[in-house]
Amino acid sequence: MGYTAIWANNKEKLNKNELAKLEKDGLDVIEDIYDYAKTGFDSITPDDMDRFKWAGVYQQRPKDGHFMMRVRIPSGNLSTDQARVLAGIANDYGRDLVDITTRQAIQFHWLRVEQLPDIFERLASVGLSSFEACGDCPRTIVGNPLAGLDRDELMDTTPLVQALSDTFLMNRDFSNLPRKYKISISSNIYNAGHAEINDLAFTPATKVINGEEVIGFHVWVGGGLSARPFLAQQLDAFVRPEEVVKVAIGVTTIFRDYGYRQKRNHARLKFLVADWGAEKFLGKLKEQIGELETRGQDRTIGWNAGYFTGVHKQRQEGLNYIGLSVPVGRMSAQELEELARLADEYGNGSLRTCNSQNIVITSVSDEKVEALLQENVLKRLTPFPQHFSAFAVSCTGIEFCNLAIVETKERMRQLAGYLDEHVELDEPIRMHMVGCPNACGQRQIADIGFQGALIKTETGMKDAFDIYIGGTLGENAQFNQKLKGRVLGDQLHRVLLPLLAYYKEEKQTGESFFQF
Ligand code: SF4
Repeated sequence: MGYTAIWANNKEKLNKNELAKLEKDGLDVIEDIYDYAKTGFDSITPDDMDRFKWAGVYQQRPKDGHFMMRVRIPSGNLSTDQARVLAGIANDYGRDLVDITTRQAIQFHWLRVEQLPDIFERLASVGLSSFEACGDCPRTIVGNPLAGLDRDELMDTTPLVQALSDTFLMNRDFSNLPRKYKISISSNIYNAGHAEINDLAFTPATKVINGEEVIGFHVWVGGGLSARPFLAQQLDAFVRPEEVVKVAIGVTTIFRDYGYRQKRNHARLKFLVADWGAEKFLGKLKEQIGELETRGQDRTIGWNAGYFTGVHKQRQEGLNYIGLSVPVGRMSAQELEELARLADEYGNGSLRTCNSQNIVITSVSDEKVEALLQENVLKRLTPFPQHFSAFAVSCTGIEFCNLAIVETKERMRQLAGYLDEHVELDEPIRMHMVGCPNACGQRQIADIGFQGALIKTETGMKDAFDIYIGGTLGENAQFNQKLKGRVLGDQLHRVLLPLLAYYKEEKQTGESFFQF
């Protein structure tokens, strides 16, 4: 394997995480977890505790023996059987909490090591897995939650999502990458897969080849958020659907073999792409996999940030998808169980999780829509949410996250509720809150982003936030810009009210918040 040839003889250049990975592959810890489940939390070695990430499991805060787990839901496509198993796990072990993440995954909390084998097996029984949902490996494949029923997609990407998942999941050729690695594929013309913030992304494109229009993809590499965000760069390549897996393997191989492994905070693919540029990267890719067609016609015409609330027509005649708002992505096990019942009773047994932390019920016939809208669970998980609550995203924050500086989820929920009561605006404002400089809540792409920090006051250190405005993806993609000053967590509304009033007054016809 190239990685061994290039790096294993240069150990003095590797950081300590890299040395630990050379000593034992992250995937090896999965077997060990079955033993640790018998010997208990205190028997877990520090290095193995770090490797738990490859099983999709992290210690939660405070480090007292409880874990959080992320479960991969490729492209957000979730059957009702799977949803019931997830609800059962949350109910039996996870203190009733089910979180939807900004990568369409499901996250549990409060798990104990003794319970992990049973959880792995329950997930496997319905074709789900938490493995490699975290760690330095290819994470869950994100994509269009409406794949297969979307009137705005050029092709159904479901089989490609499956092929990519099958290629990378538990594949030891790629289980030791320099850092986490995120893939997105979507054929939706509104960039449902958030292409620009992924390490590797495929977006819809067409090209006339031998007189025939072929539907395929353009390829983007080197996007990513965190403390130093980069937008992905498009390669001069057109990829047919049958070439997607080959291209993904080629790009991942380059990352594995040439990605930086000296400094942990300089190891994402984005740094290699920034140094090489798109042209050199494409040249290396062609060395790996052979020639590719040059770029065709880009078919992305805008950006939908992952919002599908309301009742909408599907591609299939007479069928509808119903997008529901899940406030800051959190629901109870009973609510998920109930959504599974509704998806079976009114739909075709399918739910879709969104990168906006919301959920969709699919394939509801025209005649059944009204009855579905009367169901009790839709009072809270409503298809018709108020503006600010509908577009509020939050990371986990200090409630469970060891890296967090401040509380986020409940604060974001309350702030959005307050603005719904006090501000009238005829357009959505997307607000994202994160509890530290990392980017689990994708603060950088929000209209208004809040990043947790602390302020020293006379009565001690208090939760505060840096505020950023004007983030967007799509044609005008840009990360949001920091405003001067830092605001106490309980004073955010006092800054937002005049800011939003000013926007409302000064906004030109057709102007959006990111241009403000
Ligand atoms: Fe934790 Fe920071 Fe990620 Fe929020 S953004 S979940 S605080 S690491």
